[in-house]
Amino acid sequence: MFKLAMYDEAQVKEVFSGYPQSMEVCDNCGADLEQHKRLVVEFDLTGEDRDARHWLAPREPSAQQCATGPVVVNNYRVVGCDRKARTWRLWAIRNASPVSGREFTHFGDERTLRTFYGRSGEPTLVELTEDPQGGYYGWIDCDPKTGHAGTPFMVQPHEGVFRMQEPGGFRQRVEQGFGEVVRMSATAVA
Ligand SMILES: [Zn+2]
Repeated sequence: MFKLAMYDEAQVKEVFSGYPQSMEVCDNCGADLEQHKRLVVEFDLTGEDRDARHWLAPREPSAQQCATGPVVVNNYRVVGCDRKARTWRLWAIRNASPVSGREFTHFGDERTLRTFYGRSGEPTLVELTEDPQGGYYGWIDCDPKTGHAGTPFMVQPHEGVFRMQEPGGFRQRVEQGFGEVVRMSATAVA
């Protein structure tokens, strides 16, 4: 079972110190883990736990006893961090009347956009860059069977509209390890 967990500055140093297969450098950027302020980590687990906060305890990492039974960490890898922004290329429709910094809308694959939004504008290949100040919001799924999807979907140029994509709220999905919210900036690929 795959799940995601996120660690901030205070936790990063502690979290991996107890692991037998200790991670030397970040899988995402290659830098020392201690230089990080934020890590997004995919865990391959055996066992069931609804709450991501239980998966890892710095002192007892290998078999954490939880209310629902033991959770064993088989493997883990960093899929995102603050040291190296991730980039993705998706197709989007260029807004006829863009609001500042939000030039694109309707992200997806070219064929679908042409079919459903062709009348709104020409599909444009867009590069999205992870950016804490970015005007675009997206969700990267972490499926329990297949793991971190790697690429954002449900990309929206407004936070409010993005939040509406998940009626139950993204926060709970994140806490349960089912994915991450990424904030991005976007530029057309020339
Ligand atoms: Zn890194």
